[in-house]
Amino acid sequence: MNPAGNLSYDVFVNDPPPPDGFLPNGEPKRFSPMASTMICGSEDAVLTDPGLTEDQALALGDWVAGKGRNLTDIFITHGHGDHWFAAGLLAERFGARVVASAGTITQMHGSVAARPLLWDKMYTGIPPSPVTAVTVPGDRFTLEGHDLAIVEVGHADSDDSSVLHVPDLDLVVAGDAIYNGVHMYLAQSAVGGFGPWRDAIGHVEALAPRHIVAGHQNRRLDDDAARTIAETRHYLDDAEELLRTENTAAGFFNAKIARYPSHLGRMILWVSASALYGVREHPAENAAQIILNSWL
Ligand SMILES: [Zn+2]
Repeated sequence: MNPAGNLSYDVFVNDPPPPDGFLPNGEPKRFSPMASTMICGSEDAVLTDPGLTEDQALALGDWVAGKGRNLTDIFITHGHGDHWFAAGLLAERFGARVVASAGTITQMHGSVAARPLLWDKMYTGIPPSPVTAVTVPGDRFTLEGHDLAIVEVGHADSDDSSVLHVPDLDLVVAGDAIYNGVHMYLAQSAVGGFGPWRDAIGHVEALAPRHIVAGHQNRRLDDDAARTIAETRHYLDDAEELLRTENTAAGFFNAKIARYPSHLGRMILWVSASALYGVREHPAENAAQIILNSWL
């Protein structure tokens, strides 16, 4: 018997907000595409990481509505605002509950506090973002009898990251633990290095999924778990090597582009390079402030 039964999933990749300024190489400063996963039963459905802006919420919401399911829950993988500031609009439109791990809820409060210093300086059209997420007992909930398990993976591109494991679909919705064809946000590894992120990848791999939906992905790529895990590891290895061989943030930025010419999200590459080198060059200064400044 097929354990999936009537269970299936589909992915909507939202465009980033309009560019805000320019990168050092003259390109528009464009944020990364953002992916939401809809896990569908016969009648009910669960949605993940609904995005940042009102425009994104509208585009995603219309796609969700077209699926003709009753949306019961919206799951948030981690606290970064680009993954959930639009959650309230979707929750209201579909009458859904917002669900996250306790650690992610803590990070969400931090993101709300940072919002006026960061997101509101870059983009207009971000809706009100009160934290309404709740935990579920044992970090488990169900969709028409199928298990959905929230698995904490620790630090990836943010502290207290989690993924959603759907065993009956051999699926992991990985948030930002795994990337797919998009530059990875390395800034929060400027203190502590990439070891914790490698551990997070190991947690995902231990779930033995066949499919992984990365939170940031190129919509033209598939969701092969082995490939996305290997490429996410390789990107970190590469970054470590370039931190040894490149003396400046600009050198790191250009070398990464040369190695990953078709990766999307070069704004995030520049933020990462600025933060990694900024923290390294100013060890006595406040790292959180350096990371924040690297965005603006
Ligand atoms: Zn993200």
